[in-house]
Amino acid sequence: MIDYDVIVVGCGPSGLMACGELAKRGVKVLGIDKKPQLDKNLRTVSGYCFLDQPFNNEVIRTEPNGSKTKLHYSECGFTVEYPDSMEGVYHTYMVADSGTYWKASTTKKPLYHLFDADKCFSARFGWAHKKGVDFLTETLVHKVAQDKNSVTVTARTRGKDSKITCRKLIAADGLNSRIARLTGANAGRQFFAKGPTMEYEMAGVECPFDRGDMLFFGKKNFGGMQGALLMLPSPHTNDSFRLETISMLPASNGEKLLEYFTREGPYAHWFKNAEIIDKSGAIVDLISPMITPYKGNILFVGDSAAFGECLYQSATMAGYMGAVCTLKELDGKKGFEEYTRFWGDYFEWVKNSKRMADYLKRTMFTRYFSIREIDFLFNLSRKYPIVMEQAEATPYDYAAMLLQSFQAMDEVPQEMKDQMQMIIDADMATISSVIGKNQEA
Ligand SMILES: Cc1cc2nc3c(=O)[nH]c(=O)nc-3n(C[C@H](O)[C@H](O)[C@H](O)COP(=O)(O)OP(=O)(O)OC[C@H]3O[C@@H](n4cnc5c(N)ncnc54)[C@H](O)[C@@H]3O)c2cc1C
Repeated sequence: MIDYDVIVVGCGPSGLMACGELAKRGVKVLGIDKKPQLDKNLRTVSGYCFLDQPFNNEVIRTEPNGSKTKLHYSECGFTVEYPDSMEGVYHTYMVADSGTYWKASTTKKPLYHLFDADKCFSARFGWAHKKGVDFLTETLVHKVAQDKNSVTVTARTRGKDSKITCRKLIAADGLNSRIARLTGANAGRQFFAKGPTMEYEMAGVECPFDRGDMLFFGKKNFGGMQGALLMLPSPHTNDSFRLETISMLPASNGEKLLEYFTREGPYAHWFKNAEIIDKSGAIVDLISPMITPYKGNILFVGDSAAFGECLYQSATMAGYMGAVCTLKELDGKKGFEEYTRFWGDYFEWVKNSKRMADYLKRTMFTRYFSIREIDFLFNLSRKYPIVMEQAEATPYDYAAMLLQSFQAMDEVPQEMKDQMQMIIDADMATISSVIGKNQEA
């Protein structure tokens, strides 16, 4: 006898959505996660999202609903509720080695919105729980076996193994998916890089810039260490920020960058009265996406099949579509093939590998210019402030938006404009060749 219709391994944004949607449609479902608590996020709690603009071929329309916000997925046709209002952010900065910076602002439409990930988790978990999902927490799935009609997982809860069976399994176990490794579903995916990221959420930061995100790069900002740091406004208070590093292994580099930046670097005075309210870290694998995100009775949704990240918003979309298509598969239809078409049609890097490169260019393009050239460009941008009604500022299009703003300036020599065009057109082979390289003086 089979225990569940569906087991969902991993209860992050994609897994929780899949669990709730399946239970809502009458399916007997079990959600398993190694975390002890499913209504909380493990990473620092603040996040950004792209609303009322296309991202991964979906436009999420916002509708304020009292103190809450309804998020309508207009293409996929479903709605989730965020239990608060959502702040839009209108300014974005890049800050170089020597202190010069580039800034772009929008006047009409925010570049992106902020959310509190804890609030997302508690809303989604509460909803899924009400729909009747069974959950097993503090449980690690460490073996998976399947035959024609079922999947058996071996799950360890506080040191004790148990075997649980299901007809279909949804692997929503994130970027470094163990299930993808165990089942051989990663075969054919190309590995590009592995890097640590460390995050601090800090309150009491005295930042003189307009409320926006700041990408700091250049060795002077980090005491000679190679890396970059993204500082994002946090939805908690106006003086709180999330600081996130981008660096090379070993993992300790992330914390070293943060400590130098906040205590000794050129901007340390912003943090003299600040306190760390949250800390987290992750090792991120960059591998090409799965093209066919299923194997037998197992469907891979969200980051488990992705290049880099789906982001919460698109992981939620993948979870919803994963549930809809798994239901069809349970009914004997070709649901997993339908999901594969959705995966390829919506997530841009599945069919167009250049979009993987575009996703990384914001942090990579500076490697193609010397520090003197960056200073020249950033100083010019102070002369011609970049203020637009709205901008293409998703990770896919941010670098092109920035580089095109320089290409439009008469003072920029043609040779540099050509170099910018080369970066705009660059594919993954070109971009991955500069990962981890030092910048010229
Ligand atoms: C540093 C950093 C910053 C980010 N910032 C943002 C942001 O600002 N905005 C945004 O939208 N996105 C952000 N992301 C990306 C976002 O977190 C992911 O895209 C999203 O969480 C993917 O959702 P998921 O459900 O597919 O996977 P995950 O959220 O990774 O969830 C996977 C779940 O599976 C569980 N699990 C894994 N293996 C097992 C196992 N073997 N057994 C049992 N349970 C298991 C994990 O505990 C976890 O709960 C960020 C990511 C990182 C690393």
